[in-house]
Amino acid sequence: MAVVMALFQRKPEKYFQFYAQVHFLTCEVCLIHHGEISRDPQHKPPLHPDCRCHLLEFPPTELEHYREQSERMRLRAQQELLRRKLWSRAADRLNGANYAQAEELFRQAAQVEFYLEEVEQLCQEKRDLLASNPELRARLQKLFIKCYRVKFSLDKYRPIPSRTILLWETQGLERIKELLL
Ligand SMILES: [Zn+2]
Repeated sequence: MAVVMALFQRKPEKYFQFYAQVHFLTCEVCLIHHGEISRDPQHKPPLHPDCRCHLLEFPPTELEHYREQSERMRLRAQQELLRRKLWSRAADRLNGANYAQAEELFRQAAQVEFYLEEVEQLCQEKRDLLASNPELRARLQKLFIKCYRVKFSLDKYRPIPSRTILLWETQGLERIKELLL
């Protein structure tokens, strides 16, 4: 009898949305699932050690809203993947001494987002090249300063108090100058 009853008891309908924090460290697999909506999620975070993703549960009445959200989320995830490609292509160009092309690619990447941590990493990786090339250091310093200023005009920083932004900006610009002195 209990079994029969259970069959007739309708489970409340629920949907889930996969939510990843999109930034330069998010793994590609998590980015690919960002925004995904399902009733029976196949991908349940954590997908790997240090995975910070989670599933948001929502009722069917909100499906339309979450679908719209999902499109924006997927677009952002795709843009982050593109940004990484542009950034690494730009870094490769530096070795070929095609600085104008490198700068253009860095600029395109920065239109999506610009991370100080990646500048640190780049300066580390290209240590020898940069050490022997003051012209390149000057060019990159100028470019990255510009990129870092533009960064905070991105929509996602809008909710952050301007005092905090100013502090980040000042510290970031100092660091860029220091790295590419
Ligand atoms: Zn994850």
